[in-house]
Amino acid sequence: MSYQSGRHYLAIPGPSVSPDRVLNAMHRTAPNIYEGELVDMTPGIVADLQRMALTKQHVAIYIANGHGVWEAAICNLFSRGDKALLAATGRFGWGWAEAMQRMGVAVDVLDFGKSSPADPHRIADALKADKAHEIRAVMLTHVDTASTAKTDVAAVRAAMDAVCHPALLAVDAIASLGCDELRMDEWGIDVIVGASQKGLMVPPGLGFLWFSDKAMELSRSAEMVTPYWDWKPRAAGELFYQYFGGTAPTHHLYGLREALTMLLEEEGLPAVWLRHERLARAVWAAFDAWGKGTDIKLNMADLSARGHSVTAATIPSGGAGALRRWLEQEAGVTLGIGLGMALPTEPAYGDFLRVAHMGHVNMHMTLGVLGAMEAGMQTLGIPHGSGAVDAAAGALRG
Ligand SMILES: *Cc1c(COP(=O)(O)O)cnc(C)c1O
Repeated sequence: MSYQSGRHYLAIPGPSVSPDRVLNAMHRTAPNIYEGELVDMTPGIVADLQRMALTKQHVAIYIANGHGVWEAAICNLFSRGDKALLAATGRFGWGWAEAMQRMGVAVDVLDFGKSSPADPHRIADALKADKAHEIRAVMLTHVDTASTAKTDVAAVRAAMDAVCHPALLAVDAIASLGCDELRMDEWGIDVIVGASQKGLMVPPGLGFLWFSDKAMELSRSAEMVTPYWDWKPRAAGELFYQYFGGTAPTHHLYGLREALTMLLEEEGLPAVWLRHERLARAVWAAFDAWGKGTDIKLNMADLSARGHSVTAATIPSGGAGALRRWLEQEAGVTLGIGLGMALPTEPAYGDFLRVAHMGHVNMHMTLGVLGAMEAGMQTLGIPHGSGAVDAAAGALRG
């Protein structure tokens, strides 16, 4: 027999679990896209998206996934041959850099490896060396979903200001928005890239750019932009269809409306952030216990540099892969693969996994995953320290 019958939990770092309320809000016939409810509710969605990123500046909504809005950010900011500096802290940073290279941006990558946040001083040094101020933007990933490294964005902005460099600061917050504290205006961020299917709890299909007045100004001289991706008409929203460059993402907007109400009105952003932090601490406490006397370990040693939406870990000798398979077949839980740590063809691939605690996740879901992992380790004979679930429960008490 197996214990898989019951509601399956996809505990991977996106797509995350969508609340039934969000799915039910989407379950309807297509609405009128010229007038009526959908048209009336969209300005409120834009205002709430500003609240999500804590900004009073611009928002553009795209029918796209994260890769789509990566490109949207690039083409609104650059002309071919322009210079950029990208701080890579994992696979997702490199992904954004590769898109820039293919689009003809001269991007310098500062590589911080696979288990460190970006160091503001190294970014400042690179900017200091750019005497002619040719670097148009500093790009980074707030939480890199592969390494789970979290960069202190406010510290990067302070370091940029300290060397008086005029570059914009563009941040991929796809894995952190609605999970980790993120303050666009207070932290001096010029561009935030986001998507619907992670902390925002809506199925994949919507991408977002938040951008500053300064970024808007700079984008007027960017020659790469094409009509569909241009953020200017989307942010202006003078005519309804201009918000979306064509037909509105009708059903997704209803789902998003519901999700924003849940996050902003009902739970409140500070409580959302705290819930993610506590769930993350529970997962870390469990791994610390499993790691006692074994080689099980978290990818990010430095606690302050760990994202709160996903945890990457090593369970050696193929233990991570075996445990993932067992959990999916026997326990009704799917964990994330260890992205960017080893190729699927390499033996080490089976040593890495990620546990997501992102979006619509509560105590029983996370403790359930950890308890199931414990059961899997027992069954599979994976050496592990004791007391993990106990430690996790303690961490949830705060
Ligand atoms: C998921 C993710 C992406 C890619 O988003 P897609 O929707 O899969 O294209 C980019 N950056 C980060 C940090 C992510 O977590």
